[in-house]
Amino acid sequence: MLVTFYNISGTYRVARTTVHSGCFGRANISGRSSAGAFEKWAHEVGDQSYTFNNLLPFFKRSVHFNPPDPSSTPRNVTLPYNASSFSNDGGPLEVSFPSHFNAISSWLGNAFTEMGFGRLPGFFDGRLFGWSYFAYSLDPNSQTRSSSETSFLRDALSHTTNLNFYKSTLAKRIILENCKVATGVLVNTAGVEYKLSARREVILSAGAVRRSMHLTPHVRYTEGVY
Ligand SMILES: Cc1cc2nc3c(=O)[nH]c(=O)nc-3n(C[C@H](O)[C@H](O)[C@H](O)COP(=O)(O)OP(=O)(O)OC[C@H]3O[C@@H](n4cnc5c(N)ncnc54)[C@H](O)[C@@H]3O)c2cc1C
Repeated sequence: MLVTFYNISGTYRVARTTVHSGCFGRANISGRSSAGAFEKWAHEVGDQSYTFNNLLPFFKRSVHFNPPDPSSTPRNVTLPYNASSFSNDGGPLEVSFPSHFNAISSWLGNAFTEMGFGRLPGFFDGRLFGWSYFAYSLDPNSQTRSSSETSFLRDALSHTTNLNFYKSTLAKRIILENCKVATGVLVNTAGVEYKLSARREVILSAGAVRRSMHLTPHVRYTEGVY
């Protein structure tokens, strides 16, 4: 995959934060993996639900795509996109383009073209071999990060009454019955350890990066779940 950067000297505000389920200090770039990668995944697990085309309706459902605004785009920059990659009623995650552009990007575009790489209409339709400007998980109006917290969590909290949120709480251990069925989680809030029980299921979404002693995959390792 070849990509060019813009807004690297821009001034849109990015909060570097740790939030529930995601988005610590990332660059905000929004895109999707390649159709080939999903094809391999579907093949490896023997389940065609995981092909790019079969997952596309779900991808579309969570993203609200804001087409580029020509009035904030420099004259030498074009931002093609594939409208069929998005749905009009998708959301709540906002995907858009920043209002700041770095001059080097158009030169990089020229360089990639000269090297023989084709121009892509963004990185959302399963193709990654080529070059394009990035779209970002970014609120187009405030030019601030649209994160899992500002979009999904706030949206859920605004209309869900049975969602309990435990702040500053560390998951220490998944409680397994007969070493097989997850029935709860042992957690710690401000030094107090207690058990949260699950009636139906425990969903583990603590990321793949181990950043301290207690972060996943450590959580899984302590339970022997791989
Ligand atoms: C430097 C960097 C830049 C990146 N840039 C981009 C980008 O521009 N675009 C892009 O799409 N992706 C980017 N990524 C990748 C992206 O950030 C991850 O793929 C994504 O955040 C994974 O989401 P997640 O919810 O699975 O996990 P995470 O974002 O890792 O979230 C897991 C959360 O669980 C919490 N947690 C972990 N263990 C525990 C525990 N024991 N108890 C309680 N809470 C716990 C963590 O504190 C964290 O808040 C970047 C990643 C890095 C490191």
